[in-house]
Amino acid sequence: MLPSLARAAFLLLIAACGLPLRVDAQAQQPAAPSASAGPDAGLSCPGIAVRVSGSGQADRALACEGAALALHFMAPLGLHAPDILPVELVDQLPAGLRSDAVGCYATSSRRILVLRYAEFQRRREWLGVPVQPALYRAVVAHEVAHAMAACRPSGRALPTAGHEYFAYVVMFASLPPALREQVLRRLPGCGFDDPAQINDMVYGFDPMRFGAEAWRHWSRQRDGMDTLRRLLDGQIVEELPCP
Ligand SMILES: [Zn+2]
Repeated sequence: MLPSLARAAFLLLIAACGLPLRVDAQAQQPAAPSASAGPDAGLSCPGIAVRVSGSGQADRALACEGAALALHFMAPLGLHAPDILPVELVDQLPAGLRSDAVGCYATSSRRILVLRYAEFQRRREWLGVPVQPALYRAVVAHEVAHAMAACRPSGRALPTAGHEYFAYVVMFASLPPALREQVLRRLPGCGFDDPAQINDMVYGFDPMRFGAEAWRHWSRQRDGMDTLRRLLDGQIVEELPCP
């Protein structure tokens, strides 16, 4: 039975605050770092323009690795990158996100926030498999992808589904192949067979399954990087109108 319009609208509302995902208007913006917490210059990730602050060295190293995986994958796209991409490891994400959120990208402040590894471990499972460092790297890769996708030359915004398609492809690419297959077995599907399926409604029904379907769809493309370029150009998922 088709869901009612009310349920559909509700799902769209929560879709903007789901699993590793951008912070949109529905969620409170993250508070600025507290001055009382003392200066934390963070760790400059080796070889990439990313700085990770918060938590301990082990967490920071994992986050750097996740960011490096994402940036390496996206390199052929030639995206405009900020001078430095700050990643903040936190005990708690901003209020208003889904309860299963483990990271977010705040579009207005351009901040990436990811739970510390100890907090992530409390989930025990993520994407249907036991929590492990490779999944943590993937969370960071997902949010870094959001941050890079937000730096679009057109200045126009992609809808949530476009952003998430991109971020999930980057995230799945960051996973070791055996783990990726394990995750995909937990999220069965055939992949989108029509770009019209890449929409906010489908995403809102089940963000993780949307991510798996995005990866399967992308994996079938003859030229994956060209597909991502066209996606970011708004040729696959229609861009949002200028405000
Ligand atoms: Zn996301």
